Amino acid sequence: MCERCVEDAARRTSFARRHVLQFAAVAAAGLAVAPLAPEANAKGPPPKPENVVSPDAALDRLVQGNARYVGGLTKRHDFKHEREPLTQGQNPFAGVLSCADSRIAPELCFDTARGDLFVCRVAGNFANDDIVASFEYAVAVLNTPLIMVLGHDACGAVDAAIKSIKDGTTLPGHLPSLVAALGPSVKAVQDQGGDMLANAIRDNVVRNVEKLRTAAPILKANADDKKIRVVGAIYRLQTGRVDLVS
Ligand SMILES: [Zn+2]
Repeated sequence: MCERCVEDAARRTSFARRHVLQFAAVAAAGLAVAPLAPEANAKGPPPKPENVVSPDAALDRLVQGNARYVGGLTKRHDFKHEREPLTQGQNPFAGVLSCADSRIAPELCFDTARGDLFVCRVAGNFANDDIVASFEYAVAVLNTPLIMVLGHDACGAVDAAIKSIKDGTTLPGHLPSLVAALGPSVKAVQDQGGDMLANAIRDNVVRNVEKLRTAAPILKANADDKKIRVVGAIYRLQTGRVDLVS
């Protein structure tokens, strides 16, 4: 067995052990654990061994990928040849909660390929129960070590929430549900002075980082044990740079 094979075998063993331990932790928390999906990597090696990394290494990969994107030096991705291994499962190295805004594309701005990011998107990038559940799946089943809440400059959803709350108007259709979700950030910054939209965007990121980090039992237990990190960042429309804020 060559050195590379030994290294890969060790990585696979560690991945399998971690998977079992994480489910033991979930079971200990009192949850009935059932197989969630065939792609849960319960058997066999992860399809992307290079994605089995620590939370800090995962964040570093996002930072490095964003630097390539900002500099116009993104990699040429081999989408064709990575299809086959990804039919066997997935082990994304980071989860991203992003706005639905068409100008924000996590896979592009971090220069990542398929199978690398577990992305949840909703206008205003806030974590409701469905989003929390989605990241619980990523962490408990797919062993994703990092979650990033990614806000962005000039967010239309946050701006609409500010206007609705300031003017006391009710938006049409289902839009009031966005206003309700973003309302706490709008109210938190309304007496701060300065750029209210920028302040609310930042507050919303920080607030949702905290919400995900403390979402019991799964995310909180993994964050407390330092098996995952939850961080916040803002995408700058002008430069494409992603600035960490929490
Ligand atoms: Zn937005």
